[in-house]
Amino acid sequence: MKVRVLGCSGGIGGGRQTTSFLLDDAFLIDAGSGVTRLTLEEMRRIRHVFITHSHLDHILALPLLMDSVGTGAPPLIVHAIPEVIAALRQHLFNWALWPDFEKVPTAEQPFLHFAELAIGETVDLDGGEITAIPAHHGRPAVGYLLRGESASLLFSGDTASHDGLWQTANGCADLRYLLVECSFCNARRAVAGAAYHYCPETLLPDLARLKPGVEVWISHLKPGGEAAIMTELTAKHLPCGPLRALEQDQNFVV
Ligand SMILES: [Zn+2]
Ligand SMILES: [Zn+2]
Repeated sequence: MKVRVLGCSGGIGGGRQTTSFLLDDAFLIDAGSGVTRLTLEEMRRIRHVFITHSHLDHILALPLLMDSVGTGAPPLIVHAIPEVIAALRQHLFNWALWPDFEKVPTAEQPFLHFAELAIGETVDLDGGEITAIPAHHGRPAVGYLLRGESASLLFSGDTASHDGLWQTANGCADLRYLLVECSFCNARRAVAGAAYHYCPETLLPDLARLKPGVEVWISHLKPGGEAAIMTELTAKHLPCGPLRALEQDQNFVV
């Protein structure tokens, strides 16, 4: 499968876009502002969205995507854990912020269908499969393991340190790419801790446990902090090799 990075920043400004990855043509992981870079035709081809968690930077394009190209025939299928679906129903598709697209234009043929996903559950994609893995973000959240025909890619989602991520990475025999968040520089470690994100001082000890042979790319850097975070992350030699900042429009094949 081809993975195209539509957005991978922890914020906006100067062309930065928030998290969204396009898998082949029909699947998204997260629907942050990166989705706004797609053409209408590209948006029309999207059939399934896999959401990591309900924070705005990961879902903000979801209502506008459906408003722009939704037809209800068939509905857009949004996969998420039950707590995330409940949050989206209660706080977003509630008529106050946006229409309830599970009933628009009709309840029989709506724009939106939610599909509950359990942590550890795998969903078949055309040419691959995706599994929800645990995350540690202070509220219900997941990351995703994407298995293609040639290799696997692991995306941490928003998370602070937790064993599940590294157990999944080290247990995946054909893991080629790890996309892991590191939102803040060390000077903002207290903020990172309070918001359940990584900073270099917490990520580097975990990365030292990663088996060799995996390319590591850093995502979700907060705007303006990118250079400081990457300087701190690359100051130390790691067995996994050089760490690089994930960039918009980067492509992976798995
Ligand atoms: Zn978050
Ligand atoms: Zn985020």
